[in-house]
Amino acid sequence: MRAPLVRARDVEKRFGEHTVLSGIDLELQEGQVISLLGPSGSGKSTFLRCINLLEQIDSGEIRYRDEVLGFELRDGVYHPLAEKRKSRQRVHFGMVFQQFNLFPHLTALENVCEGLRVVQRQSRAEAEERGRFLLDRVGLADKAGQYPAMLSGGQQQRVAIARALAPRPAVMLFDEPTSALDPELVGEVLDVMRELADAGMTMLIVTHEMNFAREVSDAVALLDQGRIVEFGAPEQVLTDPQSERAKAFVNAMK
Ligand code: ADP
Ligand code: MG
Repeated sequence: MRAPLVRARDVEKRFGEHTVLSGIDLELQEGQVISLLGPSGSGKSTFLRCINLLEQIDSGEIRYRDEVLGFELRDGVYHPLAEKRKSRQRVHFGMVFQQFNLFPHLTALENVCEGLRVVQRQSRAEAEERGRFLLDRVGLADKAGQYPAMLSGGQQQRVAIARALAPRPAVMLFDEPTSALDPELVGEVLDVMRELADAGMTMLIVTHEMNFAREVSDAVALLDQGRIVEFGAPEQVLTDPQSERAKAFVNAMK
């Protein structure tokens, strides 16, 4: 088997005295989809934020291929990366949040292109070509010129997914992308995510959508109080959990 795309080893994260993640081991292979499940406060968002370098871990390590994320080796010692250098590693990841956070004063197309123009310094024509391709991919080709306020929540989240895809990240991180949506709009966002998964995108998904997780995931990790308490095939974890914590969580979600 090839080396994993992302590998977390014995990751610990504290906020002050509060240990939020501890002993986290996880391997995400290229093309794999892993869902992170668990009760509120179990550390799911923090883990994604550590991968994406929005938070710095306190011990252990997270690698993207051979690169140690958030640190650089100087004189044989790992030093935390300066903020500027983190952005160079962040390009491996596209992140989609619960709140879509689109720029209200930019159109759907401009929202998707903004990063390509500003960060990657692409020409307007080049960025727009990519932007239109991605809006089409999320089913919004006809909304390119619309401002976020004129779009439904589901449409806004699909624009946010297109925006995250624009710089061609190797891994997509989703943090409860449908939790802020009215129930009737959840399906259209899950459909886009399912298509991405089917197209071979490597994805780490925090979600409470159990049926979706079961359908698209190669593996499911159940977090509780900052630890992975159960990991395995979705069928196994979601229908026949082994630990008491996992049983209680899965039963509560039914
Ligand atoms: P989840 O996404 O599973 O609901 P989070 O990762 O958001 O959980 O939070 C895990 C724990 O870390 C919670 O107890 C939360 O209050 C705490 N936490 C998260 N972010 C911070 C922060 N910036 N400062 C202090 N505590 C935090
Ligand atoms: Mg969260």
